[in-house]
Formats: sequence, structure tokens, C-alpha cells
Amino acid sequence: MGMTIAVDGPAAAGKGTISRALALHFGFGHLDTGLLYRATAARVLGGDDPEVAARDLGPADLERRDLREAAVAAKASEVAAIPAVRASLLQFQRDFARRGSGAVLDGRDIGTVICPDAEVKLFVIAAPEIRARRRFDELVAGGETTDYETVLADVRARDARDMGRADAPMRPANDAVEIDTSDLSIDEAVARAVGIVENART
Ligand code: C5P
Repeated sequence: MGMTIAVDGPAAAGKGTISRALALHFGFGHLDTGLLYRATAARVLGGDDPEVAARDLGPADLERRDLREAAVAAKASEVAAIPAVRASLLQFQRDFARRGSGAVLDGRDIGTVICPDAEVKLFVIAAPEIRARRRFDELVAGGETTDYETVLADVRARDARDMGRADAPMRPANDAVEIDTSDLSIDEAVARAVGIVENART
């Protein structure tokens, strides 16, 4: 039977890795909702109006190679604070969540706003210093030139913006289960998430 799994949390806490692993394990579809905001931001950096960019997003926008860049991430958390942008992206996410085969969506507001009825809600966190280290390693591996202090400042600024916005701020749903990945390996974090989902299915 299909089910919806909502995975929320701050940048680089491990929600993408956990979500992909859950989708693979249970044979569900996976939507990285951050990509929608990143793709909107990339168009805005190219000169588009944010609302128009979100409304007109197409599959090609999600394939862009620059979506993981730090400048796009920073812009994404700015455009994500605009209610009209969020409203434009809402239905696509809800339609994906209702796929018959089951779906894992990761983001910031999946358990609170997009899928408040999700059968499982996870809130994945880790200390900012650890998240910044992971993101720094990823950016360097991707060929970006940066330093750890800059990445840490970016992580903190993005957390503050994502938690502080009026519309759909990042926060755990009341019925979310928290996973702190600060001291967990990827395998341990995934095993914990799989266990939580299995419990909910029985
Ligand atoms: O998860 P990711 O780092 O790709 O998300 C980029 C930005 O998109 C976040 O910092 C956040 O501002 C925004 N976002 C959001 N709601 C979501 C997913 C992402 O506001 N469901």
C-alpha cells in the first residue's frame, strides 16, 4: 500500500540522503522539494520575476547543472519566503505525494503544510558546525572555491531565514520523529529512519 513520508529539516542534516534511501528501500517515489525553490531561484538570478519563475517552472529547470551552487541556495531561501512562490509550488508537491505507489518528500514544510496527513514525519537535524563541514566538503568536491567559515555563516543565515519567515517556517510537526545525525553514520541514520517507517506500517 502506498504511503506518504515527510522528511523535513535544515540544510545538510542528511534529509536528502535519508529520503533517497527510504524511497529505494520501500520502492516509493522521491521528490526533493528544495530543487523547486532552487530552480525558481536560478531563474530569478537570470532576471525573472520570482512569482512568474515559480509558476512557469518546467522539467528542464530542474535539470540545470547550477542548482547546487551556494549562490543559488542562498537565493532559494530568499524566494522561498515569498508567499506567492510557495503557493505556486504547492499543488505539484501535493500531487506527487498522492502517487499510488507511495512517496517520500523532503523539504522544510512537508509535515506541517504540504502533507499534514503524512503517515510518517521525520525531522532530521544535526549541529550547524557538522552540517557546514558536510556542505563544505560537497561544495569543494563539486569544484567550488570556498572556505569553511563562509559555509558556516551561510548555513546559519539560511537556518535563520527558513525558521524566521512568516509563511510555512521550518519547524517540526507536532507528530514528527526527530533524528539527530550529528553522531550517526549514514548507514545508522538510514537504519533508524527505515525502522521508524516499518513501525508505522505495522
Ligand atoms: O533543501 P535545499 O537546501 O535544497 O533547499 C533550498 C532552500 O529552499 C531552503 O533553504 C529553503 O529556504 C527552501 N525550501 C523551502 N521549503 C521546502 C524546501 C526548500 O522553503 N519544502
